[in-house]
Amino acid sequence: MLSYAEARALVVVRTTQSPRKVATLPKKVTDALGDVLAQEIRCDRDYPPFNRSTRDGYAVRAAEAGASAQLKCVGEIKAGDTVTQPLPPGSCVQIMTGAAVPTSADAVVMIEFTERAGDKVAFQRATTPGQNIVQKGSEARAGDVALRSGMRLGYAELALAAQVGAAEILVARSPRVAILSTGDEVVPITETPGPFHIRNSNSVSLVAQTRLAGGEPVPLGNALDRVDDLSAKIEQGLKEDILVLSGGVSMGKYDLVESVLKSLGAEFFFDAVAIRPGKPTVFGRCRDTFVFGLPGNPVSTMVTFQLFVTPAIDVLGGARARQVPLLEANLCKTLHEKPGLTHFLPGCFEWTGISPEVHPLEWQGSGDIAALTNANCFIVVPADRHNIPAGEKVSVLPRLDVI
Ligand code: AMP
Ligand code: MG
Repeated sequence: MLSYAEARALVVVRTTQSPRKVATLPKKVTDALGDVLAQEIRCDRDYPPFNRSTRDGYAVRAAEAGASAQLKCVGEIKAGDTVTQPLPPGSCVQIMTGAAVPTSADAVVMIEFTERAGDKVAFQRATTPGQNIVQKGSEARAGDVALRSGMRLGYAELALAAQVGAAEILVARSPRVAILSTGDEVVPITETPGPFHIRNSNSVSLVAQTRLAGGEPVPLGNALDRVDDLSAKIEQGLKEDILVLSGGVSMGKYDLVESVLKSLGAEFFFDAVAIRPGKPTVFGRCRDTFVFGLPGNPVSTMVTFQLFVTPAIDVLGGARARQVPLLEANLCKTLHEKPGLTHFLPGCFEWTGISPEVHPLEWQGSGDIAALTNANCFIVVPADRHNIPAGEKVSVLPRLDVI
């Protein structure tokens, strides 16, 4: 059976081989948080565009501003001022952070290391050429590539696009993710369930996780555990880039998802992963659509989506697959788990300023959504460890929606 790392790698390989072209659309840079850039953006000019002071102080010739030197202050330059005059020899000019340093000045002395009396400025320590100045073009040159196609746009990337004047940009269309739950016991969330029915919470978490991962959810409701209903609704899902099913992938008599997919022409890349929860997870392709069959227990669905569907959304959306963002923390309570599978247990990660800690939470297994609402992470218990004593360092998979 594949480990979760192997299964995830397989998702990345298979989706990367997809011949699908990623469609693009224009967007305002202010609306593009989380989108994938679908063009190259180049610098419109040098950055910084002028020699920029990084401090409030005095622009000087370093050689003239040694310890106990005194210079005449001939003016002031604030951020945004036009600077054309060179600094006259034997003088200094007061300068503010972000302002252009005049030509022939080669250093800025912080105001804290000077003393001023009238127009005389006394310097207290040696001055090094270049200090407190960022040279024109030292961050980037005009024409350099600022942002590459395929980058996911976070706040820093958006700020850089804005800095170089890319107010409107081309981004990749988000992959469309059809979401289909299965089960005779499942009723829409707007209905009152019968005594032995449950509300379709998986459709809600899957829509949320799809959005969080950068996909466009296409909710298809619920299919009964019957070949005809499943086939018809899977057919609908096969119109999208990805189809995510919940439930119906275990060994039960009414777990029909795999066989129905097969009858519709699916090939499978894996149908089990050595994890708990989430062991019967299925990944394959049916026609041009990548298909995930996730186990129906709500926490299994959530964990397997984060591990396996997220990288598929990245790749089919034109980006590189994100890293698995594991953190490390000191375990607060001894854990005993069955060996052979990697366990993902709900935990509460806490950093109080010393070293990060993680508290395992009480839970009733993979149906227990309530326990997960107290968790901000999953504690990863490796397959070869069944006892982990309190105090040992463990890996932690953050819930990226709440941490
Ligand atoms: P399955 O994987 O189909 O065997 O489902 C396992 C269990 O997960 C079921 O017995 C339900 O309790 C639960 N479950 C299945 N589908 C959903 C759903 N859409 N929403 C919430 N819980 C579900
Ligand atoms: Mg079921």
